[in-house]
Amino acid sequence: MEKEKRVVIIGGGVAGSLLAKSLQFDAHLTLIDPKEYFEIPWASLRAMVEPPFAERTLINHGDYLPNAKIIVSTAVNVTDREVFTADGQQIVYDYLVIAAGHADPAPKSRTERLNHYRNENEKIKSAGSILIVGGGPTGVELAGEIAVDFPDKKLTLVHKGTRLMEFIGAKASDKALKWLKSKNVEVKLEQSVDLNSATDGGEHRIYQTSLGETIQADCHFLCVAKPLATAWLKETVLKNDLDNQGRIKVDEYLRVKGRDNIFAIGDITDVPEIKQGFLAHKQAEMVAKNLKLTMEGGTECRNRMDTYKPHSALAIVSLGRKDAVAQLPFITMSGRIPGIIKSGDLFVGKTRKQMGLNP
Ligand SMILES: Cc1cc2nc3c(=O)[nH]c(=O)nc-3n(C[C@H](O)[C@H](O)[C@H](O)COP(=O)(O)OP(=O)(O)OC[C@H]3O[C@@H](n4cnc5c(N)ncnc54)[C@H](O)[C@@H]3O)c2cc1C
Repeated sequence: MEKEKRVVIIGGGVAGSLLAKSLQFDAHLTLIDPKEYFEIPWASLRAMVEPPFAERTLINHGDYLPNAKIIVSTAVNVTDREVFTADGQQIVYDYLVIAAGHADPAPKSRTERLNHYRNENEKIKSAGSILIVGGGPTGVELAGEIAVDFPDKKLTLVHKGTRLMEFIGAKASDKALKWLKSKNVEVKLEQSVDLNSATDGGEHRIYQTSLGETIQADCHFLCVAKPLATAWLKETVLKNDLDNQGRIKVDEYLRVKGRDNIFAIGDITDVPEIKQGFLAHKQAEMVAKNLKLTMEGGTECRNRMDTYKPHSALAIVSLGRKDAVAQLPFITMSGRIPGIIKSGDLFVGKTRKQMGLNP
């Protein structure tokens, strides 16, 4: 295969980084990401209670991409053949892959991100009582990490939904709730907190919930779902390729519907399945294979392209260092067994290996 095609990937998160690693020797590859590093997202809450853990979970793009051009900036516009970045660059592509996930601003350098975790850790250590706002997977995992590593802290978790983690089944929510209560975490459902109205109450901050309850805590962590990073696409040639939730509409090859040379992968697509990193990886692997075939050219190659089939719900939410709750296709499970699968190393060694690095 001649290495002459220009592939541009927007987003160096879970999907984009693995795709970039897989394609770097088969194309002129450019990765655009606002950060200099890839972060393993599901390890971020452990990094808050144990900052050195982040040393293995923050990986400079250059460490796994010796053969790609890395642009540390944000894509702000796309046409039928070019991408424009916030720092004024214009990059021409033959194939474009959008893997921009969720809009979750993070520091530009790995060093700044490590400092961020040290600061978060100081915040936890110096607080006697902590409020967590949001009972999705992030809020639940953070509560689990703090409850296990700092059992003396008074923890309150407020969630506006009727149950924790609505993205998985009700039985899994109940099991997580039971576990949190067993660790003395106070969980308040069907309430929200207006952080702007928090006041200083002498020793503690005073927070009001939408039901008029008062919560005293020394600090809070906001763990609510982040919006998809597609708002900027509404002003581009892809404006009609978004559904009403802002997700990119894709075909069975994960190409933007009706387009031959623009793909989308990861959380940003309208593939009807729960949004998980291991599925973002599967999509990246499939698009890597299909793009290599496409770049080889010829009908025979194209006929060998794979199609993507949505997966049924499968998720493991860690509860501290040893336990977890797992949503499997026909069953939910909690305790040590799912904990052995995820909660010790949080798949960090496995993910590093996938990126071609020492675990
Ligand atoms: C706390 C937590 C725990 C989780 N646990 C698990 C788990 O155990 N297992 C699992 O499989 N999944 C888990 N997930 C879900 C998983 O992290 C996501 O499904 C996955 O990150 C999606 O990958 P992505 O590449 O689509 O997006 P992301 O990983 O979010 O990456 C998007 C990238 O695009 C960049 N970007 C955004 N906009 C632009 C732009 N305009 N230009 C350039 N770059 C841009 C971002 O900076 C980012 O680097 C968890 C998520 C969280 C938050």
